[in-house]
Amino acid sequence: MRIDLHTHSTASDGTDSPAGLVAAARAAGLDVVALTDHDTTVGWAAAIDALPAGLTLVGGLELSCRWNPPDGGRSTELHLLGYLVDPAHPELAVTLDALRASRLGRAERMTDRMTADGVPITWAQVARLSEGASAGRPHIARALVEAGVVGSVDEAFATLLNSRSPYHEPKEDLDALDGVRLVTAAGGVPVFAHPLARSRGRVVGDDAVTAMAAAGLAGLEIDHPDHVEADREHLRGLAADLGLLATGSSDYHGTNKRVRVGGGGLTAPEAYEALVARSSGSRPVT
Ligand SMILES: [Zn+2]
Ligand SMILES: [Zn+2]
Repeated sequence: MRIDLHTHSTASDGTDSPAGLVAAARAAGLDVVALTDHDTTVGWAAAIDALPAGLTLVGGLELSCRWNPPDGGRSTELHLLGYLVDPAHPELAVTLDALRASRLGRAERMTDRMTADGVPITWAQVARLSEGASAGRPHIARALVEAGVVGSVDEAFATLLNSRSPYHEPKEDLDALDGVRLVTAAGGVPVFAHPLARSRGRVVGDDAVTAMAAAGLAGLEIDHPDHVEADREHLRGLAADLGLLATGSSDYHGTNKRVRVGGGGLTAPEAYEALVARSSGSRPVT
């Protein structure tokens, strides 16, 4: 079985529609694919409607969270995957609405400040590029590329959208332990996404993983394209010590990133089955 447990569609910052994504997943020889858009489950229905024969869809989402060390030290952003939640769970639905509204307001304010400074992009253009998804920094990045301000999305993130840029605005993220509890309360299975993806910024230490495990974390995403081998080894040891599942995935974003669906990492069938057994919010769809 070929199992990829982390992909993005146009419901967040991927470039494939949910229907296009499941078709691409099957064409890549996958048996199971999870759709894990940022802060939303809105793509699930279209993916299920378009599901090709032989492919199982696992409904999921990816929450942006923040690890706040108990000693009051500097907080660190991290991503939490939630699999097989009940999308109608009231607390989850309210939290997702608030996260999307906050992301949208932040993106609009950042764009408006650039427009006011003479950067040739507008909020209308950013909103158009988001194609109905909740507009965020990836869509501002594409507007900047379209306007010829930067040569690539990566360059936009390294310059105007960087946390040191005058246009940058901090995000209001969910506390990581609250995120783990929220996913669990919604019947889902929480897995720490790419815990040691150092190329994206600061990463947390083992103390954070231990605290998240105590709060109900079920697994670590170990075989991820942003992890080097030494980090995978370290995470495998940590998962064994803490009794956590080990997952793998592509974190596919369509043409926004180089990795292909089903490439970069897969999840072992035993880990997938254990993950499904822990869920009660929704079921995989075949
Ligand atoms: Zn992520
Ligand atoms: Zn992701």
